[in-house]
Amino acid sequence: MQDVRWKVLWLGFTLLLASLIVWALTDKVIALVFLCTGLIAYLYNHLYWLNKLLNWYKDPDISTMPIGSGLWENVFAAIYHEQRRHSRALNQLNSTLEKFRLASSAIPDAVVLLNASNQIEWSNYPAQTLLGIDLKKDMGQPIVYLVRHLDFIKYLNSHAFKDHIKVKSWINQESTLEIQIIPFGNNQKLVVCKDVSQVDKLEHMRRDFIANVSHELRTPLTVVGGFLETLGDIKGAVPEHIQNYFSMMQDQTNRMRYLIEDLLALSQLESSANAPEESEIDISALLTMVLNEAKTLSKGRHEITLHADPSIDLIGSPQEFHSAFGNLVSNAIRYTPDGGEISLNWKMRGQDAVFSVVDTGLGIEQKHIDRLTERFYRVDRSRSRQTGGTGLGLSIVKHILTRHQSRLEIESEFGKGSTFSVVLPKSRIIQKKVPQPTA
Ligand code: ADP
Repeated sequence: MQDVRWKVLWLGFTLLLASLIVWALTDKVIALVFLCTGLIAYLYNHLYWLNKLLNWYKDPDISTMPIGSGLWENVFAAIYHEQRRHSRALNQLNSTLEKFRLASSAIPDAVVLLNASNQIEWSNYPAQTLLGIDLKKDMGQPIVYLVRHLDFIKYLNSHAFKDHIKVKSWINQESTLEIQIIPFGNNQKLVVCKDVSQVDKLEHMRRDFIANVSHELRTPLTVVGGFLETLGDIKGAVPEHIQNYFSMMQDQTNRMRYLIEDLLALSQLESSANAPEESEIDISALLTMVLNEAKTLSKGRHEITLHADPSIDLIGSPQEFHSAFGNLVSNAIRYTPDGGEISLNWKMRGQDAVFSVVDTGLGIEQKHIDRLTERFYRVDRSRSRQTGGTGLGLSIVKHILTRHQSRLEIESEFGKGSTFSVVLPKSRIIQKKVPQPTA
């Protein structure tokens, strides 16, 4: 910049000096004509290079760039350097993009980039085989024109992308796809899809195996249990000195029976995604039934109370909710020492309905709470066995609630008691008017 300024000053000074010399040698009119001619020539020079620059800019190839003279040499040199820097950055970007393209093609999962209007901006090669999206043909198309699976469209429009969805492939009926949408940037989304057919098949085999084994074990166990019961009923059939062993045999047979029943219930729940036989549940009748069962199980050892809002009814499977509520109540009884209090509550909490079981029992340490719904997870193995637990109760509860778009909340304080709450969404609730008793 400094250089350019000196050049302009030097040129102006030279022209002025030459004009003064001409004035001194001839007269002022000739000097003025000389000065004007000089200025016009100077202006023409600028216009000439400006025109060259504009022409070059129409097709800015660095190899055809003019060199320029005087001031313009500096201008062209500066543009040249800038252009070189830009082209180097562009090359770097292109090579990074190429690397990204190659890496994205190597990913076995399909990846599709959507803009805020859910139009396809980019996709990798596996997207063609898994989702039928061809980047060359389908760029700019709304994804719902190409992926017409109802569950996917619902998922995309739900804006609840925390969990993935599993769908049968519409391209290959044998395949199962797992699709996850990840929002990012300015309302953009990344759709990641993987083929989980193998995992799904293994999961099916595992489930079938458990169901078959449980089923096969049930018959011989029922026979053994039946014989033990009959023997127990026959006076003197069991000699006094083996009475102890005999009752242990009965206890263990019963334990195995409960275990098999729970395993069968769990595999039945796992094998179908949706809740069957949905209907409007008469919640008052259901809660009264659960309360009576609780009292029978407690045999008067606890103080059990029910506080229910009769204006809230529920839509779902009556058998499944009976099983879920019953499991929570039976746990409260089994894990609350004699003399403790257990209260069952049914009420609204904001938009949701909540069934909670509050006990003054053993309580659970915080570190166990997240794992309680895992199969066979017990805080205290021996206590669970003593009280006839299978370690599958909360697992069954969680499955039932997931099928009803509901969730289980657990709050507990070690040594003080626990609250297990079933939280049901608005879509599962019917609020009705209850006639007020007249005075
Ligand atoms: P289990 O058949 O062993 O009771 P669950 O799946 O029903 O199996 O419960 C898992 C574990 O959670 C239990 O073993 C117990 O340690 C703990 N638990 C469940 N409910 C309660 C409760 N109300 N109070 C204390 N601990 C509980």
